[in-house]
Amino acid sequence: MIHVLKHVESITRHRDRTLLEVGVATALFELLKPEAVNVFKVQQAGPRTVLHCLTHAGADGVRFCDTDFEKSDEVVSLETRPDFQACIAEERTISSPRADAAGLVYCLPVAYDGKVAGLVEILTPTALKAPGEDLAQSFIALYRNYLSLLDYSERDSLTGLLNRRTFDENLGKILASLGPSATDNAALPGAERRDGATPDAPHWLAVIDADHFKRINDKHGHLYGDEVLILLANLMRESFRYDDKLFRFGGEEFVAVLKPARCEDAERVLERFRQTVECFHFPQVGQVTISIGFAPLRPGDTASAVLGAADDAMYYAKAHGRNQVCAYHTLVAQGAIAQRNFSDEASTP
Ligand code: GH3
Ligand code: MG
Ligand code: MG
Repeated sequence: MIHVLKHVESITRHRDRTLLEVGVATALFELLKPEAVNVFKVQQAGPRTVLHCLTHAGADGVRFCDTDFEKSDEVVSLETRPDFQACIAEERTISSPRADAAGLVYCLPVAYDGKVAGLVEILTPTALKAPGEDLAQSFIALYRNYLSLLDYSERDSLTGLLNRRTFDENLGKILASLGPSATDNAALPGAERRDGATPDAPHWLAVIDADHFKRINDKHGHLYGDEVLILLANLMRESFRYDDKLFRFGGEEFVAVLKPARCEDAERVLERFRQTVECFHFPQVGQVTISIGFAPLRPGDTASAVLGAADDAMYYAKAHGRNQVCAYHTLVAQGAIAQRNFSDEASTP
């Protein structure tokens, strides 16, 4: 009993998803003594459902990854796993013989807010006895409730997008995951680094601001203004990739952090989103436009430096007609805006 409570305490101590998942996988592995426990995140990638293995606990140790910032070790396509399909569709535990006939595989759904957000796979040589299965169900219920709370605290209540606090935490993690400081300000996409290596495609940060939003509020009222913000958020969710991160930054300002892409691809995605908004008919209000500025995330950059660069480009777009997408590094290369000194900003707290 004390052993179980210790695991509960260690799981609920963290406000970090990765540590939470590691806690759940480790607890189930130590308490049930199966061969392995794998925790998966269920994600919609366009029309496909994919499962990312977030954490593995087994005799070979514990492995984990944070799919928000790293490529998952193992991505499983739902079509290849009928047991996973049944677990998600029926929202219930499925146990079936393993493909290698070496025992059983249990799939337990992690469902909250009306959808299956994750799945826990337990590989055992023999069937779990009743107390074992009940214990697994209880840990999954704890995990589910805790995930739901984390989700609530990470999101903006009006639009459901990630909130500013989550942005501050996420961007720091992304920047940290880019490796040691290269302090190489010239390493723009496609540029050669000083060590001669071609840099990988960078992540991108885009600041998106509604044009003349105050006029919308003044003319139609705050409630219609709010509706525009909700619809803008919906259009963002439809336009960007499932693994891009979308935030409401505050007021009528949004931020998108795009997964690694070539500069022209990032620009194309942002331009497509701008056009989508321009062509959308907002009830009562009619047309709304947005201005976008974007900049790359590079090793050694600080969150404030990247945000400042994307902001500079966004304000340039505002000052030059609005309803357009501007790239920070292009404007710098053209001499249209001054280059920021990223290393100075990096040393400023
Ligand atoms: P610009 O094109 O230069 O961005 O002009 P703007 O009018 O969009 O920008 P400004 O910063 O002057 O005004 C932003 C307005 O957004 C003012 C504020 O009342 C409104 N606003 C901020 N948060 C909310 C909100 O949650 N709901 C509504 N309806 N309005 C909001
Ligand atoms: Mg605005
Ligand atoms: Mg604004």
